[in-house]
Amino acid sequence: MSDEPQDLTDEQAAYYRQVLIAHGSVYGAGTCAICGVTRCPNWVDAYDRLAAAGRQMAEPQVFEPRGHDGTP
Ligand SMILES: [Zn+2]
Repeated sequence: MSDEPQDLTDEQAAYYRQVLIAHGSVYGAGTCAICGVTRCPNWVDAYDRLAAAGRQMAEPQVFEPRGHDGTP
């Protein structure tokens, strides 16, 4: 009924991330060990809900290269 992102609680977001992992992988690259197919319905549902809420698919990682790290 709304174009606005569907908000998920942190608990729900964490749950759907677990579903992504349980049903393949975070990025859908793997075959679901439960359903036996890639991007199974459970995975797609969880992915869609996270995407609709504008949630990150995975835990944040360090993307910014830190030029001073390990450099004298
Ligand atoms: Zn599955």
